[in-house]
Amino acid sequence: MTESPLQAADDMVVTLAYDLYLDDDELIDSSEEFGPLEYLHGHNQILPGLERAVTGLVVGDSIEVGVPPERAYGTRVEDSLEVIPRQAFPDDLEMEVGMELELVDSETGAEMVAYISDIGPDAVMIDFNHPLAGETLFFEVKVLEIRPATAEELAHGHVHSHGEHES
Ligand code: ZN
Repeated sequence: MTESPLQAADDMVVTLAYDLYLDDDELIDSSEEFGPLEYLHGHNQILPGLERAVTGLVVGDSIEVGVPPERAYGTRVEDSLEVIPRQAFPDDLEMEVGMELELVDSETGAEMVAYISDIGPDAVMIDFNHPLAGETLFFEVKVLEIRPATAEELAHGHVHSHGEHES
């Protein structure tokens, strides 16, 4: 008797090797550099367009998938740039282009995410668009491992790697 192999499906922990390219073939992210991606399928842990493409795959399967902006980091919104005086940032903050900032609107108290897009001596330009907004992302993905999530992982909605407990 042979058991049918586990498929990538809701409540499974899936481990992927991946390369991520932009449409000009620029490689911007790879598991070669950062290690495989381990995630809990069906719990909004990865881009919806990628998760949909991986659904139903088994260990050893490879796919190439293009994820349009609407299912990745969104389309670009115009007039999303803002210039902020350098002294508005903490002195010890090591800023770099692309860094994610969590901001609070001083009038409404709403929390917002922005990204540093340029750094000058006196001012910093921030962009409320994600750096990958407007980009179609091309993933080359290989499924390395699939296992059922533990009850604790399902309760938490994320993976506990290598048996260690994470809150
Ligand atoms: Zn946890």
